[in-house]
Amino acid sequence: MADKILAKDKLGDFLGKLQADYEVYAPQEVEGKPQWAPVEESDKVLWDFSNTHTSPKDFFFPQTEIMMRFKNVQDHENGMVMEAEPPLANKRLLFNIRPCDAKAFQVLDLIFVQDEMTNDLFWKDKRDKTTLVGLACSDPCPSCFCTSMNCGPASTTGLDALVFDLGDKLLVRALTEKGEAVAEGLDDAAEADQAAAEEQTKAAEAQISSSVGMDKVNERSVMELYEAGMWDRVYENCLNCGTCTYVCPTCHCFDIQDETQGESGRRVRNWDNCMSWLFTMHGTGHNPRGAKKDRVRQRFMHKFKYIPVKRDGEIGCVGCGRCVLLCPVNIDVRRVVNDMNA
Ligand code: SF4
Ligand code: SF4
Repeated sequence: MADKILAKDKLGDFLGKLQADYEVYAPQEVEGKPQWAPVEESDKVLWDFSNTHTSPKDFFFPQTEIMMRFKNVQDHENGMVMEAEPPLANKRLLFNIRPCDAKAFQVLDLIFVQDEMTNDLFWKDKRDKTTLVGLACSDPCPSCFCTSMNCGPASTTGLDALVFDLGDKLLVRALTEKGEAVAEGLDDAAEADQAAAEEQTKAAEAQISSSVGMDKVNERSVMELYEAGMWDRVYENCLNCGTCTYVCPTCHCFDIQDETQGESGRRVRNWDNCMSWLFTMHGTGHNPRGAKKDRVRQRFMHKFKYIPVKRDGEIGCVGCGRCVLLCPVNIDVRRVVNDMNA
């Protein structure tokens, strides 16, 4: 499908039409921060924001998710009755998602949807029913390093359509069938609009000043990196607060618990994080990552070595920069990876 054009003053009609088929969400100002929220008024949709404060991973992997409910019916025939949670009722559309966050979902697909035997139904149901319409970055912030992480300001990976903000109009590029359904009915873009989008992308790429080296990280063995002396320095300042893991679009560890009351209960999964001292506690009481150094090392080794080794070179980071901005003691993932590389 050819690139399309949408005048910005027609955005309300455009989103209104989509709302007949989808629940539509977009970044909006919530409590003074750019955050994801349902679209009620199109003029509240943000265009000039670096990225949302927290990532949109909750749409597919909520912080707390009920997996099933159960009830002991005290009946020899039925014993325990278990009920699956219903799948997502409506189709959803995330409008103006940043390319790095969409790329993060493609990384997580490799983990949650590996094959028929290891297929996370909760994740897949939400992914199948959600359309991702990206917003190309025109003004990356100093903490962004997406271009070092197989991504970029106009990366299309994981997206169904990509929108370029050209001032009073939007260039809409459909990338999948889902994206074509969104762009249907719009007028074709002119060559000058396409050229403006390409120029914007080049300027945005040039503005990304941080670069992170991965060449030696890829060459070095797991054990060489694991035993490197640098970890004795990196871990010291970390508070193990877990902020970096909660805001990260690719962090995906969870813990499953049964919560019971009387004869009934529910099975829930909650986000876990490798910074917590309970993270890998075994039932025996033994904890292979009992020390802070082990936990901090796990976070970086998982993203930059274990995932690439297991997933054909894919990296468990998209360079969104959230952890750089929000770590209370300024542990900078870019410096850590450059140290691993050096
Ligand atoms: S945000 Fe910073 S201090 Fe908190 S766990 Fe992560 S690296 Fe450690
Ligand atoms: S590790 Fe940091 S920069 Fe990388 S994806 Fe996670 S939050 Fe973003």
